Amino acid sequence: MLYSVRMRSAKGGPHEQGGRHISGAERILEEQTVDEAVRQMLHRARSHTRGKADFINIRIEAIDSRAVRLVPLLPMLQHETDNIENGRKIAKQLLLDCGITEQAADRAFKVLLGLKESMRGAVLLDAISGERRDSFQRRGVRVSHMDVENRTEFKRWLNKQKHQGSHVQEAIVLAAKVASAPGIQAELCWSDDPDYRTGYVTAQGIYHRITPMKQLGDARGGRVFFIRPETDLEHVVQYLQEQPVLIDWKSKGRKT
Ligand code: AMP
Repeated sequence: MLYSVRMRSAKGGPHEQGGRHISGAERILEEQTVDEAVRQMLHRARSHTRGKADFINIRIEAIDSRAVRLVPLLPMLQHETDNIENGRKIAKQLLLDCGITEQAADRAFKVLLGLKESMRGAVLLDAISGERRDSFQRRGVRVSHMDVENRTEFKRWLNKQKHQGSHVQEAIVLAAKVASAPGIQAELCWSDDPDYRTGYVTAQGIYHRITPMKQLGDARGGRVFFIRPETDLEHVVQYLQEQPVLIDWKSKGRKT
């Protein structure tokens, strides 16, 4: 038996009563490591750069280990440029190169740049028409039930490749799950952390880190998942939200 441990925190009350999202985290763990994970999550909710949470929800659920799907980590490529405009140009080109239409890519930037405040989840756009496919409105689709195998060792390995910090560690886990979902063609993301300017595009099985993608001090971030037009929406949303996934980072998907 394994345990899914999930935390979400907000300021100004619970999310569903209009509280502003502060942070979230989740793990899939053996029973004996659950307590320590909860302690770390509390610390994170109280000391985030977005503010100190006054609402913290931690949910712990048992899951059958046979239901967990193992997914490889995506190989990573780094793109650095001197300004945001060029960072976004690189991102757009990567999207076009993997078959996203210009219309859909432009729509994705318009959606993210038009956010008055960050969403909690992602927007699902049709990869061809650019139409929004999910009906989660301001909340977006929350990807959940994912973690990485041997997390401590994984962090050590990432640090060695100069990928320090929780942003990249969490983002590549989420990106690997999203890329494994049925019908997903690409992902575009930049963080809502005002101190973090790096964003990424996942396309053709590669995680492309791009710096910079937004202004320092900007607390608006977001994610767009591009889905192929024929995709069964209910199936992909169910997979993203509920399928437990562990990232097997030692597997062959890794190139760096
Ligand atoms: P972050 O990379 O954590 O700074 O998140 C950047 C943005 O991605 C957030 O503002 C959300 O819109 C979105 N996001 C964060 N976590 C998730 C998730 N678990 N599933 C879907 N979208 C997410």
